[in-house]
Amino acid sequence: MDWLINNAKILVGNEIQLHLSESDQYLRELLGKAEQLKILRNTVIHGRWSQECSWPAEDDAHMCSPLSARTFDEPDAVYHVERSRYRRYAREQAWALSEVEGLAVQIMDLVDDLRWFLVGL
Ligand SMILES: [Zn+2]
Repeated sequence: MDWLINNAKILVGNEIQLHLSESDQYLRELLGKAEQLKILRNTVIHGRWSQECSWPAEDDAHMCSPLSARTFDEPDAVYHVERSRYRRYAREQAWALSEVEGLAVQIMDLVDDLRWFLVGL
């Protein structure tokens, strides 16, 4: 994914010097989305997961935040992830299993969009 983002950025950089077009704008949108998805993907891949929340509500509810407003729609399929063991003040997040699956689908769709875009250049 890093490879794809970096190479596409180089292409956008070259294109901007020639002209600004709708396709440049579209590629910028795709790359912006790719960077957002990469952060989420790194949480999934590098985070430390657990079934139980490390931050009980009576402790400090703000230390564990749901990924989205829909995270607790399926309370039986919610897991907790500490985003980085290296960050001193790492915050925990709650993710529903469907959100992990949804992220995988978004990444696959984005990679397809980027491939089609690059093929069309
Ligand atoms: Zn938690």
